[in-house]
This record gives sequence, C-alpha cells and structure tokens, in this order.
Amino acid sequence: MFFVEVILPLSLAKTFTYRVSEAEFHFIKIGMRVAVPFGKSKIYTALVIDMHQNEPSLYDAKEIHQILDERPIATETQIKHWLWIANYYMCGIGDVYRGAFPTGLLLESETMISRKPEVLVNDSELSDDEFLIYEALHHQNSLKIQEIISILNKKNILPVLQKLMEKDIIVLEEEIKESYKPKLVRYVKLHSKYESDNGLTELLEVLKSANKQKEVVLAYFQLSASEKKPITVKKLTEVSNSTSTIVKTLIEKEIFEEYYLQHDRVSFDGKASEKQLHLSEAQEKAFNEIKNSLLQKEVCLLHGVTSSGKTEIYIKLIEEYLETGKQVLYLLPEIALTTQLVSRLRNHFGDKVAVFHSKYSNNERVEVWKQTLENSDKAQIVIGARSALFLPFNNLGLLIVDEEHEQTFKQTDPAPRYHARDSAIVLANFHQAKVLLGSATPSIETYFNTQIEKFGLVTITERYNNVRMPEVLLVDLKDKHFRKRMTGHFSDLLIEEIAEALSLGEQVILFQNRRGYSPIIECMTCGHVPHCQQCDVSLTFHKNKNQLRCHYCGYSIAKPTHCHSCSSIDLTTKGFGTEQIEQELVSLFPKAKTGRMDQDTTRGKFGFEKIIDSFKNREIDILVGTQMLAKGLDFDNVSLVGIMNADNMLHHPDFRAFERSFQMMTQVAGRAGRSEKQGKVVIQTYNPNHNTIQQVTTHNYIGMYKEQLYDRQIYKYPPYFRIIKLTLKHKDFEKLKEGSMWLYQVLSQNLTMPVLGPEEPAISRIRNEYIRTILIKIPQNLHLGNTKKTIQKMLNSFEAVAQYRAIKVIANVDFY
Ligand code: ADP
Ligand code: ZN
Ligand code: ZN
Repeated sequence: MFFVEVILPLSLAKTFTYRVSEAEFHFIKIGMRVAVPFGKSKIYTALVIDMHQNEPSLYDAKEIHQILDERPIATETQIKHWLWIANYYMCGIGDVYRGAFPTGLLLESETMISRKPEVLVNDSELSDDEFLIYEALHHQNSLKIQEIISILNKKNILPVLQKLMEKDIIVLEEEIKESYKPKLVRYVKLHSKYESDNGLTELLEVLKSANKQKEVVLAYFQLSASEKKPITVKKLTEVSNSTSTIVKTLIEKEIFEEYYLQHDRVSFDGKASEKQLHLSEAQEKAFNEIKNSLLQKEVCLLHGVTSSGKTEIYIKLIEEYLETGKQVLYLLPEIALTTQLVSRLRNHFGDKVAVFHSKYSNNERVEVWKQTLENSDKAQIVIGARSALFLPFNNLGLLIVDEEHEQTFKQTDPAPRYHARDSAIVLANFHQAKVLLGSATPSIETYFNTQIEKFGLVTITERYNNVRMPEVLLVDLKDKHFRKRMTGHFSDLLIEEIAEALSLGEQVILFQNRRGYSPIIECMTCGHVPHCQQCDVSLTFHKNKNQLRCHYCGYSIAKPTHCHSCSSIDLTTKGFGTEQIEQELVSLFPKAKTGRMDQDTTRGKFGFEKIIDSFKNREIDILVGTQMLAKGLDFDNVSLVGIMNADNMLHHPDFRAFERSFQMMTQVAGRAGRSEKQGKVVIQTYNPNHNTIQQVTTHNYIGMYKEQLYDRQIYKYPPYFRIIKLTLKHKDFEKLKEGSMWLYQVLSQNLTMPVLGPEEPAISRIRNEYIRTILIKIPQNLHLGNTKKTIQKMLNSFEAVAQYRAIKVIANVDFY
C-alpha cells in the first residue's frame, strides 16, 4: 500500500495520511498539491510533504481525489522553513501553509467562485466542463466549489477551476469584495509616423505655425531623452507649462498617441536606466565593510542615520548578487513604502523586480509565486512585506530587511505569529544565503546581537551629500500653556517655524500619533465617556462623519447630543488626533494646502500613494499624519517636521515604549532636510528633560541603547529573556478568570522561570470576549525548545479539562 503525508490548510498541528495508487505514488513528488476529502464532505487542497508505505494505525486512510500539479509547487527548503516556523512560534503547520500560499492556490469546498465581470469569453475556447461552469455563473452570481461539484457531477474539479482562473474568466469571491480598482495612468508617446530619426525635424515643419504645440513636442523630446521612461500627460503638461487641451489637440492631429498603464505595474519600458550608480565616499566605505562582514558572518546590520543613502548601498549589493545568478529578497515593513522603492529599484534593474503583497490580486500573486519557483528573470529581485518570505525561492543569495526595527515585521493575528526578520535569518541559513539588516534606529535586540558579535555591524554617521542632521528644538508645553503661548495645539514657536518654512516655499510634516478628530467625548457634568458596547475601549470621535467609532471592532454611533448617563448636553472633546490638527491648521494658515495621512485617508489600493504623490509633487504644503509618516519616505523639499505631542508615545504601558518613542521620533525627524539644507524639528512635550527626548534631540542612539539595555536586564526582558505571551479569551468572565488561574498555577509550578499574570490587559474585552494574559520569561541560557515543549504539554492538559475547553488560548512567541 502507498501513502502520502500531507498538510491541510487548517489550524491543525498534525499532518495527515492519505492513500494513493502505485502509479500515483511514483508520479507524486514532495511539494505537489493534491485535492483530498476531509471531514464529512469537505474538500481541501493539501500539500504533500512526504511519501511512505506506513499505514496509519489510528484511522483508515482515505484516498486522495486527485493530483493537482504536474511538478512541485513548493520546495523542500520551503517546507523545512515552515516546519521551523510552526515549531518555533508554537502554531500548527496548517496555519503556516494557509498563510503562505496565495488563496488562489488553495481552493477548498467552501471557496466561493464568481465570474469576472467585463471579460469577453470565446465559448469555443472552453472545454465542456469549463463551459458548464461559465454557463452556471450566468444564472447565479457566485457558486461554492461544493455546488460546482454537483453541477459537473464529479469530484475532481479543482484543475478545471484553476484553468478558468488562469484564463481570467473566474475569480475568487473574496477578491471582488476587496473592490480592487487599479488606477490607470494616462501616458503619451510619439505617433509611430514620427519615430524615424528625422521625426523631430518633420514635426517642427508640421507645427511651424503652432507655437504652443511645438513647445509641448519639444518638451516631450527633452523628457524622453533625459528620463528614458514612459511619459505621463501630467508630467508633460507640467514641464512644458501647457494644458491637457493642447496635448489633446496633438493626439487628434496624430502626432501623439495616448495609452493607459496600471500605476503600479509600470516597468519603465522594461529597460533599466544606463545611469551608473556612484556611491559617496562614506557609502563606498560602508559597502566594502558590509561585503567583508558578510564573508565572515551570516548577518550584518547597516546602521546608517536617516538619509545616509542606505537604499543605494542595497542596490549596489543586489547588483553583485545578481551577477552570481542568485535571487534576492527585499523585505519592507509595510507595503505602503513600496511604490517609492519599486520605482527606485526598477530604475536600476528594469523588469527583474517583482512585487509581492497582499493588496495584489490573486492572479498577480500566483504569477510571482510561479516566477520565483522557476527562478525566472522577472523575479530575480522580489520586494514584499513579511509574507514574501513564504515564496518558493530555490536559489536565494541575499535577503535585505529594510527598517528592521519596525514592529509590523511581527505578525500578530492570525497564526503564524512569526517575526519576518528572525524568520528571514533562519531561511537564509537554509539557503546558505546572507542577510543585511538596515535601519537608522535598530531594534535593541539586533544591536545587542552586533555587540556580542553574532551579527556584523557597519555604521554610517553622516547623511548623503553631507547634509547636516536636523536641528531639534524642544518646546515645553507646560510653560507655553502657563504663559498662554498656545493656539489650540500649536505653540508660538511651532507656528513661527511653519510660517517661515511656508514663506520659503518649503514643505512641512506634522506628526500626531493618533487618528480621528479627538479620541474621546466626555460629559462635563458627570464625567461619562461613551464606550464601545463590545470592547472595553472608549469610542473615538471622527468629526468629518460626526461619528463615534471603535478602533477595535469598527462599531460606530452618531455623535450624541446629550450624555447617555445623565442627559446633560454639556459635552466636551478631550485629547486630539490628526483630524483636529488639520482643522486648526486651516484657521492658522488659511492659504496653505494641507493633507492628512492616516488609516482613514489611505484606504484602498492606492490611497497611500495618492497622498505621497501629491505631497511629492508639492500639491500639499503641510502634511499631517500618524506613524505612517515615520517609514523611510524620501521627500526632498521638507525643511520642517513638527511632533505635536511626544508624551502619549512615552506613556505607553509597554516595555518597548521608550525604544519605540525614540525610533518613531528619530524616523519622523529624519524626513526633514534630506536634500541640501539642514532641516528643523520641533518637538512639543510636557517632559523636555525626559532621557528619551534628550536622546532624540542629540541623535544619541547609543545612549538610548545603553539605557534601555540596562532596564531590560533589570526587568527581565529581551534580549536577556525571551517572552512568550499567552492570551486567553472567553465570553464568560468568571470561567475565564478561573481557567486562567488554573493555567497560571500549572505553568508556574512546572517552569523554573518567571511566569507573570494572569493579567487583565488595559483593554480587557474585545468583541464581547474577555481577555487575560500570562507572560512567560525564558532566560537566554535555558533551552528554548525544551521549555516550549513543557509549555505545550501544559496547554494540552489545559485543553483536556472539560470546563475550560471553550477557552481560547493563543501563544505569541517573542511577543512584540
Ligand atoms: P536612507 O534610506 O538612508 O534614509 P536614502 O537611501 O533614501 O536614505 O537616500 C537619501 C537621499 O539621497 C535619496 O533621495 C537618494 O536618492 C539620495 N542618494 C543617496 N545616495 C546617493 C548616491 N550615491 N547618488 C545619488 N543620490 C543618492
Ligand atoms: Zn453625564
Ligand atoms: Zn468595539
């Protein structure tokens, strides 16, 4: 008898055994997908991770339905990496598998399929089965795979659906819900009539008496000579100082042709620019040091101050790895940053750059998956957020983790709760590849690893072009309030500085780490604050919608006119968010154009890019934003950055609060004065003498590091202790209280290390579920694997207690 061992895309730790025929056994390879029945009537896409002849003893092995691939679609290294992740982060291998694959490759009986709207299909190109499905989708908007099985009256339908997806005829229902609308950008090119060498001369003759049009044509030639990439109508009108009407006339005259491209798929004509990259002396030195360091060590940290030109060093390094035929993975904390970076990289590497992220459609993700697997030229460099780590690389040479300190590299929900930086280092190890971490404000953990010489360290202390580090001015809010020098949330100094920057035609960034108008509404009479009905948090006031919203579950109500507790109409707003700052700006600087960047204004696929673009194009003078602004954006005309209130970051109840405040402020400050002139940063705070604020002011990373490291040792936190956080959830408060106490006691009796809790977190109820947490601190010198095994055993026995079975327990290893 012949069997395959498979992973199912379900939150299960086990692998499962299925029976195959001898012929199938010889055909199947590890890494191929098979459709299998599971439970009463479900079908899943499973992944083969082993083949053997050992019949399972506990259950009757079912037969697979069919083989879905002709060759492996996942690599063995990849599977090994997933197993490591499942083991290290204490989750099911099924969780990793489900998180790793684009959903388009994971069809299951519950998946909903729809017809792609607006696609013309030639019936004759469809097989009988394909046609039946296509037909059925005319009568019904969407179908479950289960239903399609009965329409075709056979079990083996996944390959047919896959074909239809490849042909772009059907899509997964969930994608349609994403309401994905790619932005089309309008471009012009010279009509093919004039493409010859003397095209310009001919044209000038044609346009002899049309001066305005002539100017546009000349501008076009200039642009295409200097930029070597497609020219947008917008750019052309700007440069030639004309209007789109003139461009339209030129199109009508058949001098130009217009065409549209999807904004993020522009590949610069597929050609890389010829421009050679010239590193500055400091960059060149760092570059050589990195190469040396990577000869000896697997991981190197590039600690370069903001705007030191780290990206250019990455590019140079990528160049070298590409020459050896290796693949390069470039991880970014958030995909918001990619547009700027993708265009910088495509300028150098043309269409060798592939982008992988969750906002892309399934087909696009599947495409990158396949390109990576085949080691295609088109995916020699893959840029992506953390999930790009799961692609089927087979020849990885270099991994770059940019802004390595960013907490978004750690996935919180759902499992696998992995840290992409740490998992990247493990992946590199499997590939014998190298890792370059980059940051202006490295995480304490990473910097610590350089100090114990586990990682190499290369430092750049100067900005590119010798621009000086921004000058930081502190404003003492207490004093300003006392002396009545505040207008709303703006100190007189900040107002003066903004006015000066604007008068010089320079741009300003204002940072307020909270969205919304003002966080809460409070009753002046009784002090009542409206709370979310399902979560233990106060509702946030959003002025433009005149709503109170819960930032955890999305619950919203109209802004109350009177207090729901005492009916008083004397309500006031407390605290302030980005929206209120923007409002105040309008009255302070009525002539300035303001923009806002936070989660509310950047929804949708291009929401973020739109704001970045208009700021870059100087259509916005003052940009107000949340921590999204702190993420490696490069603007050349920003001379002033204002931090509206430094204190709410410092007072976060979290052992990383000071480290994060330092990072956030330093990063936002780093947006000032990037191209020539020294920038200015104004920090408003009630604690101007706070160590962290002083460290930001003097650009003293090492001071921050030493102070924090000392605290971490005293209070038993990373890097000296590893932390596992257990979160328990249940709707019944008493049961949860009892259960978490039970688990706490069992853990503290069986572990020889600090176990803290069970703690009621600051937000102790979300979506009607109560929450308790337990913190386990594992000293560096203890064997982590064994400790986890013990913990897992305790968790299993907890699950075996009948009355606690309904309590959910989530383990978060290396909790961030
Ligand atoms: P960092 O990532 O260190 O903050 P960037 O890589 O964004 O810095 O570089 C800052 C600015 O300096 C960018 O606008 C970049 O184009 C420019 N720059 C850096 N190095 C070079 C170089 N070698 N040649 C030309 N421009 C450079
Ligand atoms: Zn009241
Ligand atoms: Zn809520």
